[in-house]
Amino acid sequence: MVRNRSGSRCERCGVDLGPREGEYHHIVPVVFGGGNGADNCSLLCSHCHSVAPNAKDELDLLIYRRYFLRFSSFKEAARYYGEDTKLGVYVKCALELAEREKNRE
Ligand SMILES: [Zn+2]
Repeated sequence: MVRNRSGSRCERCGVDLGPREGEYHHIVPVVFGGGNGADNCSLLCSHCHSVAPNAKDELDLLIYRRYFLRFSSFKEAARYYGEDTKLGVYVKCALELAEREKNRE
């Protein structure tokens, strides 16, 4: 499915990949709740896979998807978190995520 979507090209740099070339990259890692569906997987050449976003970037993405998307704007999130800097809102959001993950154990 992902291979069809990509036209058998790397979805980052566009290089042509043979039928057995290419690597599947999880956009949100499995350990952070990412699935194996096509919406979470990307077909990459080995070079692009080696420089794909690291775990920290992926955690950022997860926080954004899970917690920021419930707000329609940064201002709204800022009101909720009582912070007026992006970093402050972000840190509080990350702490809330960590707290929820801890309580789930
Ligand atoms: Zn590539």
